[in-house]
Amino acid sequence: MRYISTRSEPGHGQSLAFDDVLLAGLAPDGGLYVPEQVPELPAGVISAVSGLSYCELAARLMAPYVGDAVAPEALEAMVADAYGSFAHPDVCPLAALDDDHWLLELFHGPTYAFKDIALQVVARLFDHELERRGERAMIVAATSGDTGSAAMEAVAGRDRIDIVVLHPSGRTSGIQRRQMTTLDAPNVHAVAVDGTFDDCQDLVKAMFNDQAFRTESKLAAVNSINWARVAAQIVYYVWAAGRLADERPVTFCVPTGNFGNVLAGHYARRMGLPNERLLIASNTNDILSRLIETGELAAHDVVPTLSPSMDIQISSNLERLLFELFDGDGGATEGLLTQFRADGRARLRAGQHERVRAGFSGDRLDDRETLEVMGRVHASSGRFIDPHTAVGIGVAERCRRPGELVVTLATAHPAKFPEAVERATGSVPDAPPALAAVANRPERCTSLPNDIAAIKDFVRSVRRG
Ligand SMILES: *Cc1c(COP(=O)(O)O)cnc(C)c1O
Repeated sequence: MRYISTRSEPGHGQSLAFDDVLLAGLAPDGGLYVPEQVPELPAGVISAVSGLSYCELAARLMAPYVGDAVAPEALEAMVADAYGSFAHPDVCPLAALDDDHWLLELFHGPTYAFKDIALQVVARLFDHELERRGERAMIVAATSGDTGSAAMEAVAGRDRIDIVVLHPSGRTSGIQRRQMTTLDAPNVHAVAVDGTFDDCQDLVKAMFNDQAFRTESKLAAVNSINWARVAAQIVYYVWAAGRLADERPVTFCVPTGNFGNVLAGHYARRMGLPNERLLIASNTNDILSRLIETGELAAHDVVPTLSPSMDIQISSNLERLLFELFDGDGGATEGLLTQFRADGRARLRAGQHERVRAGFSGDRLDDRETLEVMGRVHASSGRFIDPHTAVGIGVAERCRRPGELVVTLATAHPAKFPEAVERATGSVPDAPPALAAVANRPERCTSLPNDIAAIKDFVRSVRRG
């Protein structure tokens, strides 16, 4: 299996193996890596799911993407280790909302959001590859919420990786901050920056753009543009379809921010998973819903909502879909994105818009509608849901057709968002013990000014080896 950049010209791009793609993250030309060919699902795998564990399925489906980089037994062991800490034996269990509408619970990992599913595997793949090369890496990241803690938890205690995560001081929720600052491992470091999330992101970019510092510090990234994360997320789409074992093809409804999760669903479909529709669920930051409706990418200002992990205007993983819509023409893909960055808008060609509409549907929920869904689901079933999942459920209910089998992806545990849940339902959900425990553990966090020299000094000072 070889990978090419979404900015490479047809037939001319350099292709890379999985291990290089894993460690590189972003391609040197600024593009994202995609597999040159999409592998087919192993024959009969969907009907075989009933007899497989989640880990067995994950190892089988990820193997063609990983290629020769990891031996099959090592991959199986890595996956089993990654999901061993999950709070549910099914890893991603299904729960019925009604006869034809299911929730796929992706929040049973150590930080209670779906980022764990990919990052727990990716951190182990990183460690494995660094070990093989005799190298080390320093992961630097900015976070406004779930990604930081999921990455830190995944990296905690790994031999060859250190991690520094910047968050905007005073601007993350208390639970989200504590998930980062109470981790007791010598290689993970939470930094509170006196600034906004955008400042944090600019600091990370500045570190990556300083070539000397980047090399000296062995900087690496595990953000959602890393292909390995997409590969790990393909698994639960196949898992859900196999577990439901219904003769109808499944419609998936995906609460979306960076388009990573729904892109994984699209790849599952390209691999041959029978799929009725993919529904894209947005909050008020609805650039993707508008793209489906109008065929135009048009940036608006980011509006803070109750579902902060979806408060994104420019969905980075969309570039992978655009590359496909341009039939693998990287120059044209880059052209559209350059125009979008310059003008804040760019229009798909008519045929491309048609293809988007054939592949995806979607809608949006504002905060009032989100709270209404949370309240209604609780009143009718006693079930608490988090605001991101509520956006998905609301969109699924609006879009579903009679007799359609729908799976909505539940991306966070409700106890991660107690204020929103209380507003919607009048009660606070019980936190699982591991989440409740962060309230009582001592916090370890370094406060730094919004100053690149101070941040770099800190990174140098904590790097091991
Ligand atoms: C990251 C996140 C999302 C959005 O996922 P994307 O892959 O960025 O589309 C949705 N819900 C929660 C809880 C998240 O943490």
